[in-house]
Amino acid sequence: MELFDVYPLYPIEPVKALGSKLWDKNGTEYLDLYGGHAVISIGHSHPKYVERLSHQLGRIGFYSNAVENSLQNELALKMGQISGYYDYSLFLCSTGAEANENALKLASFHTGRKKIIALEKAFHGRTSGAVAATHNPKIIAPFNADHQVEFVPMNDLDALELAFDDEVAAFIVEGIQGVAGLYTPSNKFLKKAQALCEEHGSVFIMDEVQSGAGRTGKFFAHQHADIRPDIITLAKGMGNGFPVASVFIAPKFEPWHGMLGTTFGGNHLACAAALTVLEVISEEKLMQNAKALGDYAMDRLSKMPAVKEVRGKGLMIGAEFDFPVADLRKNLLMDHKIFTGSAANKSTLRLLPSLAVTKEELDQFFEALEIELEK
Ligand code: PLP
Repeated sequence: MELFDVYPLYPIEPVKALGSKLWDKNGTEYLDLYGGHAVISIGHSHPKYVERLSHQLGRIGFYSNAVENSLQNELALKMGQISGYYDYSLFLCSTGAEANENALKLASFHTGRKKIIALEKAFHGRTSGAVAATHNPKIIAPFNADHQVEFVPMNDLDALELAFDDEVAAFIVEGIQGVAGLYTPSNKFLKKAQALCEEHGSVFIMDEVQSGAGRTGKFFAHQHADIRPDIITLAKGMGNGFPVASVFIAPKFEPWHGMLGTTFGGNHLACAAALTVLEVISEEKLMQNAKALGDYAMDRLSKMPAVKEVRGKGLMIGAEFDFPVADLRKNLLMDHKIFTGSAANKSTLRLLPSLAVTKEELDQFFEALEIELEK
């Protein structure tokens, strides 16, 4: 049997990793400034993470949600503390799309409605519900006939107001649009969305799958704005590589048995991974590091004449060029051994390093970038 060929691959196989470093099977060292789409939050193979997961696996790795699991309660408590959403409840699942799917489902249960408002260029995942709310004409959701999704341009207050009516179940928005190219909804736009949701009895869903877990210098990107969504989804950086995701749910949602469910959600290993991530983020002050080094990197990028615009916040950074960045990324990887990312618009270089990245590591990138841009 062969793998179903749906991803283009670089001919590099990392076999070892530590912090922001990777090594391939020949022992060649790479600098990872992408973390597999913002997944690596506390750094690869963090010793505390390795120790905790190994210990947990030696005790119990998995049992279903049919039995008590105090690690889930511990995780919910810690999530409340670190995010400030003490009074919300936590639903645990395994991927970002699954978290968004459950968020949309909750909105439908709560309102009895199906219509969704999403943003142009949005990306919310690849389940049919999440795909329906994803703005990409190439990805057609075959089973989404039940979802009625209206897309509005980001930060267009009039279009947003026009899209709302009393049939809207939910408005869904990313904290910062990652895949699209690091576009951030304005505080004004988010406040307007929140007010419209309140006016029409709709649910405000904030997708922090990529922008959450401290990446922007606050636990959630939307916490830079003055809003409080009804539902927040989180994945990627939450597990530092272990597939774990969650849905933060406001107290007004009434749970009932059978309302949501998932086999793997909140299993023992997943909880151990997420708990360690939260502990390391706090102990090593990684949100402060994300802010300081994010400011440093964005400042340096904004001073480079070839960079047309710098977008993002903290360590979720997009540098806009006036050319497609595919070759630049390839040269950074092949000649300088540095992993970076791109975005759907093809002209954005995307940086999503570990929150523990150092100034020296960023300087290594800038040295390489300068050489490449002078060519
Ligand atoms: N939401 C956002 C903002 C994302 O960036 C992604 C993945 O890139 C998803 C949802 C889907 O997450 P997953 O691939 O874990 O299903």
